[in-house]
Amino acid sequence: MMTKRYSEVWDLEVFFQGGSESPEFASHLQSAQEAISSFKKEVGNWNPNDQVSEGNRLASLVEMFDGAAKKVRQAGAFVSCLQAQDTEDKKAGQLRAAVTELSASLQTALTVFDQKLAGFSTEVWDELLQSGLLNELRFVLTERRERAAERLSEQEESAINALSVDGYHGWGQMYDLLVSSTKINYKEGSLSVGQAANKLSDADRNVRKEIFTEWEKAWGEKEDFYSKTLNHLAGFRLNVYKLRGWEDVLKEPLDINRMQKETLDAMWQVISENKEPFVQFLNRKAKLLGLEKLSWFDLDAPIGTAESKMSYQQGADFIVDNFGQFGKEMADFAKMAFENKWIEAEDRPGKAPGGFHTFFPESSQSRIFMTYSGTPSNVSTLAHELGHGFHTYAMRDLHLLNRNYAMNVAETASTFAEMIVSDASLKNSKSKEEKLSLLEDKIQRSVALLMNIHARFLFETKFYEKRKQGLVNAETLNELMKDAQTEAYGGALEEYHPLFWASKLHFYITGVPFYNFPYTFGYLFSLGIYAMAQEEGQGYEEKYIALLKDSASMTVEELAQKHLNVDLTKRDFWEKAVRMCVEDVEEFLALTE
Ligand SMILES: [Zn+2]
Repeated sequence: MMTKRYSEVWDLEVFFQGGSESPEFASHLQSAQEAISSFKKEVGNWNPNDQVSEGNRLASLVEMFDGAAKKVRQAGAFVSCLQAQDTEDKKAGQLRAAVTELSASLQTALTVFDQKLAGFSTEVWDELLQSGLLNELRFVLTERRERAAERLSEQEESAINALSVDGYHGWGQMYDLLVSSTKINYKEGSLSVGQAANKLSDADRNVRKEIFTEWEKAWGEKEDFYSKTLNHLAGFRLNVYKLRGWEDVLKEPLDINRMQKETLDAMWQVISENKEPFVQFLNRKAKLLGLEKLSWFDLDAPIGTAESKMSYQQGADFIVDNFGQFGKEMADFAKMAFENKWIEAEDRPGKAPGGFHTFFPESSQSRIFMTYSGTPSNVSTLAHELGHGFHTYAMRDLHLLNRNYAMNVAETASTFAEMIVSDASLKNSKSKEEKLSLLEDKIQRSVALLMNIHARFLFETKFYEKRKQGLVNAETLNELMKDAQTEAYGGALEEYHPLFWASKLHFYITGVPFYNFPYTFGYLFSLGIYAMAQEEGQGYEEKYIALLKDSASMTVEELAQKHLNVDLTKRDFWEKAVRMCVEDVEEFLALTE
């Protein structure tokens, strides 16, 4: 008999006792509010002379900011966990609103703070960063100062912020409302968008085809509403850029991801030139499904039924063992997370879908959320989230401000951990069927990141260019999307999804512009690191940890140069990474010859 050594339910009581009714948490919110207020007041009272003597004051403001930010993040992490573990927890929803308000209020104070940083002359600024805390934080502080300098005055930016509530974010919320009112007809009844999306991976082609026909119809019926929403959202963004004097629509997303245009171009170019193996994969998949060519609705169709299951304990051991093949620190971290109840994995009703990792900075602990039912993809998800956990763990001794890595490197450690485990699963597979289905799973990720996300990027860049000239109607959006998909999938599909611009939430996210390429970057960046780890074998872990530690305090180009000795603006690195994806395809093609 296997004994259950690891709890499948996490421990949140160590943070605040009593869940969403916790009095301890209520007073935490209070103290976060106070920390923000005093930071705000201090910043408001600060009228820096352009002199090095301001250094101490600046350092103390930074510490106040840090303290307030820690409290807000601690609160945000707790509420995320509460909401995920029980979707019926109404009180948690109210707490979410309170945390959102705290973040907004901290953000306002920061805008003022950043403007004051921009007020220093370059000479004095450089002098200020010579030593101590300010030196340790020189990258992030300089980044804040430079971003502020590229923006409008404090009053103008505040006005934009205020107007964006209704004029920008409001359109993003309008999208959510439209989606929730969109129903997909199926048989006698109707399905929500989420339910219908799940059926697009049904084993029965008739089901997929029927759903997809209704799917296109449903988005098409409301296409004018969706196009209006997208046009206004994009129009607001473009007008803000114009006011700030920003020509290129990619300026902000590149800046957020701390990367150069040359890097992005090199990455897409290599991807564009390597479509052929993936087209071959899609053609082979079509053949395995008894089809001439695949259509959009066949992309997620399963090719086999072979699936081995693992209990939670087995899955946990498998992960710890295989992390151990790579390095001791990573294995020890995973073991500690399992032992100390950092993971919520129980398969029970009432939990939110999906998985995530979150970090409690005041306690220096992570929590991982998911629902584990024993499939190989559950094991991958668990490894993925533990990878995120290891990333924050590797940074544990750093100042909090040096731990805010951008979205494109956020997925590095998670993908890396996932690769270790999926490679091990492949080696471990007991039959050809099982191996094929695991391999297909892996290749599907490449297809998603090198084809689907590429289509999104091609569409979005073209759309924004057109939008500069005026409103873009639904018909044109459909055409743009179809062209983008045809290019990104190398013409491999028989039927595309022209209304993808309406059905994909990512185009409507107002928090982050261009919510697509950072994923592809993160995936390939991580594969490149993985390739090096395999070349170097044991002993690489130390280098890997050093890279993770630096991942939030330099640009991605500097990070790659310093730790991998590669130039991301050149093709070599990207070729090596894409090559790893192609090798999977080659193996798949050989196995299914
Ligand atoms: Zn992730």
